[in-house]
Amino acid sequence: MPTALEFTDILVKRANAREKRKGRSVSCKAGCGTCCYQMVPLSPPEAIWIAELVDYLEKTEWKGISRKFGEIEQVLINHGMVEELLNPDYSDDVALDVAKRYFWLKIPCPFLKDNSCGIYPYRPVACREYNVTSPSEYCADPYSNDVVKVPMPLPLSAPLARLTAKMTGARPMLVPLTLALSWYSKNRELTQKRWPGTQLLQRFLSEIGGKKGNVE
Ligand code: SF4
Repeated sequence: MPTALEFTDILVKRANAREKRKGRSVSCKAGCGTCCYQMVPLSPPEAIWIAELVDYLEKTEWKGISRKFGEIEQVLINHGMVEELLNPDYSDDVALDVAKRYFWLKIPCPFLKDNSCGIYPYRPVACREYNVTSPSEYCADPYSNDVVKVPMPLPLSAPLARLTAKMTGARPMLVPLTLALSWYSKNRELTQKRWPGTQLLQRFLSEIGGKKGNVE
């Protein structure tokens, strides 16, 4: 995960610099946090990373963070959305509908503190890749307003998800951040698997050399 996150940061930096050269600057700033109400898709390695981070944070001033996750899961259960959110088979249209309905539940990310990311150095790939050049107030309704995202040449959540699927024989999927703990508790066998680092890196590089964007 640290390698994938560092790699993401390099790509984001380059993408943002390209926008700047074209006269467009990123309008995201600390204290905005509007995008932190969106559903954040995690590849399985990121979901494990987040679940283990939460486990660590419970021993710090973040005590009670897992309860927050549980409360959010209950809201999603009450709205009948958990199965949909964990379904890897839906089409892009259905995915968009689910993402919209999730956003309008107005659930803040459990890591959002004073409208800023409380786990900034550890935040997932999708959060790093989400940068906009449109006015920041547009993000209050990203599905109606013309939000312009900085295009990423190589979004990394999908290749990470494909890599996990190929290494474990599971189906490719993305896990919503707010369901990471629940997903982790049901997939603990995945966390026990080990591969040599060089093998993982080679497979990861071959994945990012393949098809872009989609999980499958
Ligand atoms: S992890 Fe941080 S950046 Fe990502 S949605 Fe949560 S608070 Fe926002």
